[in-house]
Amino acid sequence: MSSVQQESQSQQQCSYLKNCELFPKLCLHTTMQVWKIFYCEGNYTLCARYKTAEKGIPVSPMLLPNGKLLCLPKPKRARH
Ligand code: SF4
Repeated sequence: MSSVQQESQSQQQCSYLKNCELFPKLCLHTTMQVWKIFYCEGNYTLCARYKTAEKGIPVSPMLLPNGKLLCLPKPKRARH
């Protein structure tokens, strides 16, 4: 890869890659990697997390790039 290609590629990556709470999760789960490729490594200016951070507003760990909130399954109650 030429230095021009490397520079171009790095410019397409989100500047919050190292600090984003969601990014490591996107890397771990194969079903979420499409988001990493689309948002984090390409169209990061479309990411709701990026836009929120750019406004100086704290970013919820539950906020997804598409602006929806991550819904985790409710923990099951322990039976006694
Ligand atoms: S999820 Fe959004 S803010 Fe986080 S690294 Fe990807 S593009 Fe950037």
